[in-house]
Amino acid sequence: MALDDLYREVIMDHYRSPRNYGSLDNPTHTISLTNPFCGDEIILELQVSDGVVSAAKFTGRGCSISQASASLMTEAIIGKPVDDAVAMMRGFRRMMRGQLENEEEMGDLVALAGVGKFPVRVKCAVFPWEALRQALTPEQLPDDD
Ligand code: ZN
Repeated sequence: MALDDLYREVIMDHYRSPRNYGSLDNPTHTISLTNPFCGDEIILELQVSDGVVSAAKFTGRGCSISQASASLMTEAIIGKPVDDAVAMMRGFRRMMRGQLENEEEMGDLVALAGVGKFPVRVKCAVFPWEALRQALTPEQLPDDD
């Protein structure tokens, strides 16, 4: 199986069977966001305790890229210290600009790297991470960070 096909398979699998879909009983952070570029919607809920993202769930609707990205993101950040989750968010944004620094660290998220070639879809892939950014880092990040 070609790598592109494998990645497409991962994306479609997460789109069809999103992981961590739903809502938390006692979220510490709730962010609701709409992507003006293609109408994607997400409600991201986090439970942060002792500086660790102990739980994350989302609901929403939208294109396959945004939904798969949200699903992959929750899998990637659960159990991570907030600082690591923020570092991963920055790494993901860089990956979307073609700068994949640490493939191992990005894990399954690498399946979305190919989206970087399609600027219109980058907004969809980054969208759930933008919700995470707003939840965890109140300050505005410059686009190149
Ligand atoms: Zn979209």
